[in-house]
Amino acid sequence: MSLEKANKGRFVVFEGIDGSGKTTQVELLCKHMASMRAKVLATCEPTDGPVGRLIRRMLSGTLPADQRTIASLFAADRTEHLMDPETGIRQMVDNGTIVVCDRYYFSSYAYHSQYMDMEWVIQANRLNADILKPDITLFIDVDPEICLKRLQSNRKHLEIYEKIDIMKRVRANYLAAFHRLKHQERVAVINGNDSVENIAKAVWDQVCLVI
Ligand code: ADP
Repeated sequence: MSLEKANKGRFVVFEGIDGSGKTTQVELLCKHMASMRAKVLATCEPTDGPVGRLIRRMLSGTLPADQRTIASLFAADRTEHLMDPETGIRQMVDNGTIVVCDRYYFSSYAYHSQYMDMEWVIQANRLNADILKPDITLFIDVDPEICLKRLQSNRKHLEIYEKIDIMKRVRANYLAAFHRLKHQERVAVINGNDSVENIAKAVWDQVCLVI
């Protein structure tokens, strides 16, 4: 591993449908790297900033908005996430931090292309991709039925059929986006139908290739 030698950081992104284990794996990876005395930062999208807060209100339904508005706001939130002069991912990476992010632009491609052409979403995120591409995107691929069961055991009210339908569609959209951008992006599809420990090992094997 070349962490000590490298003075530039890295940008590692986790993707997956809800309940796929992203939060779990972000935490494990960050702990592991911190124990190796790497400078590590865990973050997520949408952010806790003003645009991210607006998005959360729209997603929860308290502030109704058109899907195109939401998609545009996600791209704007991402730009803020990258470019904040103090905490922005771009400068963190430039200063040697390994930034691990729960969701980035592939989430937009997978979720928003349910409602609009994926190419539009990719173009709306062009500036973000120009600012910073992930060194690696790790897709935790879990059977949507399993994700749904996990979510059901955590939450009380789920619209089961609608939900599973969306999860299946989003998973398919992710795979379509990976295929579409296979020459521009480094993506590792990790089998997430496995124990937390085995997934963490598979994640580490992939991350070792880029740090
Ligand atoms: P996400 O952030 O992708 O929504 P989480 O990491 O919050 O997913 O995981 C969703 C739920 O599934 C949590 O209750 C978590 O403890 C559990 N979980 C995560 N990974 C696994 C796994 N490999 N096997 C079984 N349960 C898991």
